[in-house]
Amino acid sequence: MRPQSIHTRLTLWYTGALLAILVLVSALSYSLLSWSLSQDVDRTLLTMAQVVRDASRDEPLDVAEQWLRELLDPEHQLFQLLDPTGHLRLRSRGLRGDQLPLSAAARRTIIEGRPAFETIALHGQRLRVVTLPVHRNGRLVEVVQVGLPTRPTERTLERWIETLAILVPLGVALAAAGGRLMARAALKPVDEMSQAARRIDAGALARRITVRGTGDELDRLAETLNGMLARLESTFTEMRRFSADAAHELRTPLTALKGTLEVALRADRSGPEYREALASALEEVDRLVRLSEDLLLLSRSSAGPESPGARVDLESVVLDAAAVAARLAKDRSVVVRLGVTAPVAVQGDAGALRRAMLNLLENGIKYTPAGGRVEISLADEGSTAVLAVEDTGPGIDAADAERIFEPFVRLDAARARETGGSGLGLAIARSIVVAHRGMLVVERGVAGGARFVIRLPAERR
Ligand code: ADP
Repeated sequence: MRPQSIHTRLTLWYTGALLAILVLVSALSYSLLSWSLSQDVDRTLLTMAQVVRDASRDEPLDVAEQWLRELLDPEHQLFQLLDPTGHLRLRSRGLRGDQLPLSAAARRTIIEGRPAFETIALHGQRLRVVTLPVHRNGRLVEVVQVGLPTRPTERTLERWIETLAILVPLGVALAAAGGRLMARAALKPVDEMSQAARRIDAGALARRITVRGTGDELDRLAETLNGMLARLESTFTEMRRFSADAAHELRTPLTALKGTLEVALRADRSGPEYREALASALEEVDRLVRLSEDLLLLSRSSAGPESPGARVDLESVVLDAAAVAARLAKDRSVVVRLGVTAPVAVQGDAGALRRAMLNLLENGIKYTPAGGRVEISLADEGSTAVLAVEDTGPGIDAADAERIFEPFVRLDAARARETGGSGLGLAIARSIVVAHRGMLVVERGVAGGARFVIRLPAERR
């Protein structure tokens, strides 16, 4: 079956509900009308019976009969007078020689002094009949019976059913057509939105869906989609910049390598000259290898941890990283010191966390002048493990505090080149920390140097 559009489904539901309501209302109105008509008939019958009773009481029978014939129209001349034993005393001409029956039930009711109503069949037509007792001096002296054909009431009810049979389908059809138009109009903005969204692709991410300013659900949907587009656009821009930067970073050592090799090949060289050229080429190749390793590391760490992560004793990772850094710092006359540490565990990948710490420590060692100090410490702040790497170097200006975490950003290009940094160290460290649901920021240290702080959710058991 073809999937139905929302507006068709809305119309079907709406029409179905309306049909059910109209059928219910029609059934109620029919029973109400039928009840009220039968009440009217019974009231009329009772009045007629009282007229017959009074006429027969005040006048001799034949005069009363004459009187009644004139008073009641021929159609209504279905009445009779009986004596208390049920024998006929007088009957109207309309009965055409026949007699209205006096049922046992009616007899019982009139003995109690109440009028009895019942529906009977006479001459092939249905009649509503009232039987009224007439008392004189506390004695039942006469019984009056008056009948009315039920046909007019039935006709009225039939006409009402015929009217409903036309009005209900007509109303439902009109409502369905109107409902369909309304549903279409209400959903038109959704159609427009999906068309607008279809026109947006990677090449046209700056486009936005029109917000009509009505503040309704559709406007909120458009705003949500626009927010998503804005995030996609900035991610795409970042990716483009990253690829351009990466290509540029790769080109620099490759150009240098090419230059070295061309110079070496341009003329016949002595053995030491070749060795020098090859050593210089190897240096560039080393840089390329480091760069590609860093790029790989960055792409892996930004994809998040490969496994759900195990419990990591952060203190032992800190001790290990500090020992490695101390060895690296030896020939740079910078001291790596272990500050206060606390036993605290986190969930994650110990190797990646060690990489992040080492990147911070290596930077500290690289950018701190000889005679300086780099200190690593670990504190347990309840729900958070706080790790800090602080140095006595030049520090980082507040204006650069966010920028340095972007890939390939180096504050002092010449110095960074000299130290062999690719500008990816901090980007890698941050993406590892973020993948561990933590954060990495830089502050000004107590001694004016840089203080990198990693906050990770602590694992409690
Ligand atoms: P790099 O490979 O250049 O070290 P990073 O991403 O690790 O790349 O660092 C980015 C830049 O941030 C560095 O080039 C340097 O200018 C600055 N930086 C990083 N750590 C420190 C530090 N401890 N002290 C001063 N500057 C730093």
